[in-house]
Amino acid sequence: MEIKKVVVIGSGTMGSGIAAHLCNANIPVTLLDLKTEISEKAREKIYNSRPPLLIDKSKINNIKVGNINDDFNVVKDADWVVEAVVERIDIKHNIYKKIFKERKAGAIISSNTSSIPIKVLSQNLSNDEKKDFCITHFFNPVRYMGLLEIVKNENNDLIKINSLKKFCEEEMGKGTIICNDTPGFLGNRVGVYAMQVAMTEAFKIKLTIEEADAIFGRPMGIPKTGVFGLYDLIGIDLMTDVLKSFIKELPETDPFQIVAKEIPFIKTLIDNGYTGRKGKGGFYRMNKIDNQKVLEAINLETGKYLPSKKINIKSDKVDLKSLINRKDKYGDYSWSVISKIIKYASSLVPGITDKFNDIDEAMRLGFNWSKGPFEMLSEIGVKNFFDRVDEIENNKFLKSLSQTKNENFYGERQKYTEIETLGKVKPTALKIDKNDSAEIYRFKDFNIVEFTTKANVLDYNSMDCLKKATDKPLIIINESMQFSAGVNLNYTMNFADKGDFKSIEKFIKYFQETCKHLKYSKHPVVSAPSGLALGGGEEVILQSNFVVSHSNIVMGLVETLVGLVPAGGGCKEVLWRWCQSDEAKKDPDFAPLKVFDIIGHAKTATSPIEAEPLKYLRPEDKKIMNRNSLLAVSRKILNENKDFKAPEECKFNLNGKIVREKMIKVLEKLYNEKVIMDHGMEVGKELANVLSGGDTTIDKTLSEDDIYKLELDSFMKLIETPKTQERIKHTLATGKPLMN
Ligand code: NAD
Repeated sequence: MEIKKVVVIGSGTMGSGIAAHLCNANIPVTLLDLKTEISEKAREKIYNSRPPLLIDKSKINNIKVGNINDDFNVVKDADWVVEAVVERIDIKHNIYKKIFKERKAGAIISSNTSSIPIKVLSQNLSNDEKKDFCITHFFNPVRYMGLLEIVKNENNDLIKINSLKKFCEEEMGKGTIICNDTPGFLGNRVGVYAMQVAMTEAFKIKLTIEEADAIFGRPMGIPKTGVFGLYDLIGIDLMTDVLKSFIKELPETDPFQIVAKEIPFIKTLIDNGYTGRKGKGGFYRMNKIDNQKVLEAINLETGKYLPSKKINIKSDKVDLKSLINRKDKYGDYSWSVISKIIKYASSLVPGITDKFNDIDEAMRLGFNWSKGPFEMLSEIGVKNFFDRVDEIENNKFLKSLSQTKNENFYGERQKYTEIETLGKVKPTALKIDKNDSAEIYRFKDFNIVEFTTKANVLDYNSMDCLKKATDKPLIIINESMQFSAGVNLNYTMNFADKGDFKSIEKFIKYFQETCKHLKYSKHPVVSAPSGLALGGGEEVILQSNFVVSHSNIVMGLVETLVGLVPAGGGCKEVLWRWCQSDEAKKDPDFAPLKVFDIIGHAKTATSPIEAEPLKYLRPEDKKIMNRNSLLAVSRKILNENKDFKAPEECKFNLNGKIVREKMIKVLEKLYNEKVIMDHGMEVGKELANVLSGGDTTIDKTLSEDDIYKLELDSFMKLIETPKTQERIKHTLATGKPLMN
């Protein structure tokens, strides 16, 4: 079965997300709603969405719009029809009646429902029709969430289901897990239960919402929104509807019922319009006090808002064993929450799936957990878990494990896919070195470096691993969300605060040396980024010999925002790329001015397609939809480049003062227009100095080392200024840039 044309019915949040993502996969799609104006508006919203649902705005042309009365005949040509209308069974039934009358023989019809079972959705269909009907449960936002659950039952044609899975995996890049027809499928059944446990236990143990979110967050390998933050994000009222549906669908004996009970405190919030971020606020709210925005958190006992308090639990790494063994209320809370989640998830095997691994993957892809419940159990240790856990009656999985006590029960990750992923390769690879910031694996005849810090920020140790790993062909890749958010600003500021600028200089020099090594060592280096690839992270990519980029990257040299210039070879490399353009051959100032504009404005690309015109990526760099394939595609490159020869060093002829003056004119204009302020002017001047080649003339040839030196000098000058330090501190505290 080939899918060449798709119709999506219902152009709300999910329908438009699905249509947009089909566009990204270059599949023509028609989006139908009750009225053409509604689907037209949806298309406009897709075009202007932030974060963007499209990887390239021009892809919008893949979407046609229409309405279900005048344009329904498009269904005749579709290979797949996705229904994403409101969650009302009567409306859905009517639509299926219409679709099956018109559809092409054998076309797949699916619903995006989150709570209605297939047996109910398909109750009016003939046996033949039932074969081709399934649920395709995408998560919001469709482009960014990795999980797609395809729900089937005994009536389905499995060959067709598998070919739909293949399409969704290869073309749409989704982590596609096939599940049985049970309430909430895999992700929501366990994910919503986990949220409810995290919430009810916080009430029970009397934690503040900031405390609960500080634990049920990063320390557990869970996104930092925590539970109360996530409730606000989803909508407190919507969560209540979701719970009602679970209460209705699940048997009374299901432990979900206990944690899904209405909490009076929450009912009061909803009744008063506190439905979360979309309402007046929720568990958190942004308040204005003396014209200052203040984040406030609600007190679960009094219902009053107070300025939110930062909770420091004094651990940055996910370390579940230490967390549950803490001798304080945070330790009690973590054990209580984690053990209940493990008990519940394992009680669902084999009922909702016989592959426990799929539950973990659903949590990783659909809720962005770094580990699912079973991997948490494996990390805590089987013996440790059973030494502490209370009764496990009616839990086949745990009973059997308590007998075998097999500490290695987990096996490999990502069993739902045949692709050889990093997650599958790591356990069989040899860990040859590690430090606090990165790890080196040897697999077959090549090395893998994975960064391991928060958001994979870079420091001296990260560079050390990269440098050591170039003794073999190297792939730089990671399982966590971000490739790298750039240089660790905390690390740099710790030195700056002590006035120890020598150590900063030493680090930057080592950064440069390492990047030069990546580019010119005798073995090829492939970077395989996804997520954030900013600042120093982007410099590593720029100086790798090959790049395989996932379609969801945010890429850019953003150093100027914190009052610095790229100094790990970023200025040099982008400048060199622009110097190779036809325009640069005619005008020596073209490339420096272009790069001045790009780096000066800290331009970022939100996809590889946007990155290419900025020359952050080259046309030959691979751009792929499925994150799971990053390793396999990188390996293929290494295999195809067994006779790799390092590139020749770049040379530059730059116009020095002449082009620098042009740049300063640009800065003066921005200053007069109040786009930049005093320090913006200083940063701009330093960037101009680097990109103009410093004290040079066009007839002098500069080496890469000359430009590295200019980058280093400007970086050091800037980091020593109080205003750059002010910018860095502000960004560290707020996540936002400071204009000064
Ligand atoms: P929505 O309310 O944003 O959009 C529903 C759209 O359907 C609206 O544009 C409406 O005009 C249209 N519609 C209603 N009746 C129609 C009809 N007869 N013919 C054509 N269009 C019709 O809803 P949503 O959040 O996009 O949810 C759609 C489906 O996806 C639901 O089944 C929901 O349970 C499921 N879902 C939602 C989410 C989520 O996060 N929002 C996640 C997963 C699944």
